[in-house]
Amino acid sequence: MAKKENRVNIQLECQSCRKSGLPGVARYVTQKNKKKTTARLELRKYCKFERKHTQFKEVK
Ligand SMILES: [Zn+2]
Repeated sequence: MAKKENRVNIQLECQSCRKSGLPGVARYVTQKNKKKTTARLELRKYCKFERKHTQFKEVK
């Protein structure tokens, strides 16, 4: 059995939406391994508001 306690739920938020001042900010809910990934997660994902790939950053 894999150890579950190292996986935590996190939210990724579109950095470009945040700067734009739009009412909606695209977010993804995902999981990460807090032992392997100690730094803030950063990923390129598709933003449904802007209809393009943007940089997403982990938020708390
Ligand atoms: Zn966006």
